[in-house]
Amino acid sequence: MQDTIYTIPVTEAYETPCECALCALEARFENDRVNYYLGPSLMEPDNRIATNDRGFCGRHFNMMYATQTNRLGLGLILDTYMNEQIARMKKHAGARNAGDAQKKGLFGGRGKGRDGVRAAEEICEYWKKHEKDCCICGDLEKTMNRYIDVIFHLYFSAKEFRDKFDGGMGYCMRHFRVLCESAGKMLSGGKQEEFLSSLVRQQLDNLDRINEEVNWFTKKFDYRNAQEPWKNSRDALPRGMRKMTGERDIGDN
Ligand SMILES: [Zn+2]
Ligand SMILES: [Zn+2]
Repeated sequence: MQDTIYTIPVTEAYETPCECALCALEARFENDRVNYYLGPSLMEPDNRIATNDRGFCGRHFNMMYATQTNRLGLGLILDTYMNEQIARMKKHAGARNAGDAQKKGLFGGRGKGRDGVRAAEEICEYWKKHEKDCCICGDLEKTMNRYIDVIFHLYFSAKEFRDKFDGGMGYCMRHFRVLCESAGKMLSGGKQEEFLSSLVRQQLDNLDRINEEVNWFTKKFDYRNAQEPWKNSRDALPRGMRKMTGERDIGDN
């Protein structure tokens, strides 16, 4: 539990109040992971086996592409990943071996009436499972669970952390739900009630706050308010949308 790999980012995320400390933790870890897969991991055979096996979701391929730092590295990852996946699909399709598909037709010239239908079903069944998989999403899920462990631990053992937690600006609704569900699973009766009553109060108060900011944003369009200050409302739209959805890609402008 005292593992600094997890406690340092958690403590740092709560240093400066923000709209969702878990979004901040997620973004930091995601970026680290993107750089890791494009960097040191490339040369590690075990990791290449994992990236060939699990691949990446669209979001994380996109993030790797957007770094623009290591196009060759990304090319190598994509090349061997495609290679592995195509070989698997051919196997599912029933091609006798990968090379046969081109030379003798997909099913090795056996031509049994329903081969195409069966091959399509097998490939799609495989792909349905595969497309839920992603190296970074998998790492992220495990690490976020550890972070939440650390949050619970610090909340009940470090007063300074607890004060910061209780004085926070709430969470996006996606992470609010994750925190509530984790508290339901991981905390015992008394602690669960203590943690959740504080969290729910904090969340509802802060939803009111951000709602008022969005409301003031709309009022600023009234010519009678043109000379009034924006207060905190200039970026109320992206913050409000992110608060309600937890969507990571909503911009800041
Ligand atoms: Zn969040
Ligand atoms: Zn992913």
